[in-house]
Amino acid sequence: MRATLWGVRGSVPVPGPATERFGGNTSCVQVSVGESEFVLDAGTGIRELGAALAGRCRRLHVLLTHLHLDHIQGLMFFAPFFDPEVEITVWGPPAAGRELRKRLARYISNPLSPIEIGELPAQVTFRDVPQEPWRIDGVEVRAALVSHRGPTLGYRLSQDGTSLCYLPDHEPALGSDLARAPGGWISGLGLARGAALLIHDCQYTEDEYPAHRGWGHSSLPDALAFARRSHAQRLLLVHHDPWHDDAFLEALGREASDRWAHGGNAGRVELGREGDVLDLAGAVPSPDMPAVVVDNPSESRFELRLDDQLIGRAEYRPAGDSVIVAHTEVDAGHEGEGLGSLLVREALEGIRASGKTVIPTCPFTAAYIRRHPEFVDLVEASLRSQFSA
Ligand SMILES: [Zn+2]
Ligand SMILES: [Zn+2]
Repeated sequence: MRATLWGVRGSVPVPGPATERFGGNTSCVQVSVGESEFVLDAGTGIRELGAALAGRCRRLHVLLTHLHLDHIQGLMFFAPFFDPEVEITVWGPPAAGRELRKRLARYISNPLSPIEIGELPAQVTFRDVPQEPWRIDGVEVRAALVSHRGPTLGYRLSQDGTSLCYLPDHEPALGSDLARAPGGWISGLGLARGAALLIHDCQYTEDEYPAHRGWGHSSLPDALAFARRSHAQRLLLVHHDPWHDDAFLEALGREASDRWAHGGNAGRVELGREGDVLDLAGAVPSPDMPAVVVDNPSESRFELRLDDQLIGRAEYRPAGDSVIVAHTEVDAGHEGEGLGSLLVREALEGIRASGKTVIPTCPFTAAYIRRHPEFVDLVEASLRSQFSA
């Protein structure tokens, strides 16, 4: 999984010499997973991405967090929309009784646009995001409404235990104490938990924030507090205020690193710059994620606990020198966080430590072993050939 930043500015494009180091284009992040291309938001940064993709990509997905202009302004300047060979699915937040296509057509229509949305030559489909996680080309995508002005989504893209979370317009501190509130009460935390990369709103400094409380954006201290609770491995701050020039952002970046280190946090924090490419290959779920797996022999199950709450279980049954793993589940609301994989991995390690072999009748566990050949030797000998490549 690789993320490329094409626009990191909030609110309005600010081209010019004072912003050339961080960039002046509004929100757009490309996420490439193998041959698949995902585009997070369609701010003005999407124009150059379109030029880079033109003629090279036949199918792609545009995931819109919301329809504020700084997140859709580049849509009609995105070259793939003008290629009849290209299939594009545009995903966005649901709104009761109002189709996404019609809402976007308010912008892509007369008098704001020289073309109508129906005239786009590409094969375009518009879809509201589902409530449950869904899969696109082997990537699990999860969307959830988060605290901003108007219906706004955050996204999490996961593949092979590596996750990227995208929350460019987000004010989780509004009405929540980020240091002390239970995790389930903090907007966006379920999406961000343990992510290899968290891309988060940081529009304001600490001093600027009080005058903008309720505007839907985060201050630097709140963005850091949210990241700390999420246990993300790497934090990238974006949606820079249009009044923050390069010199200002360089200083803000130093302040962010100092505050992060001073808080005794591991991982990295930096300010996003247009053109940055972040390769997440090899990233693993954060080791200090507050999720633990413990064996509970009296219930014949491994238990997954998060913030001291039981949220998942892997049920087993002893069978001679083997242990049958019969069923695993993670509670609704925690999908897409890599927790199911964590549960299975820890259960398998627990069984290995006991000196027994595994009979994985649970399909999720069997699929996990097929994806992780280092566990094949743990499978009961007569079944092992079914799991070897
Ligand atoms: Zn925005
Ligand atoms: Zn917004």
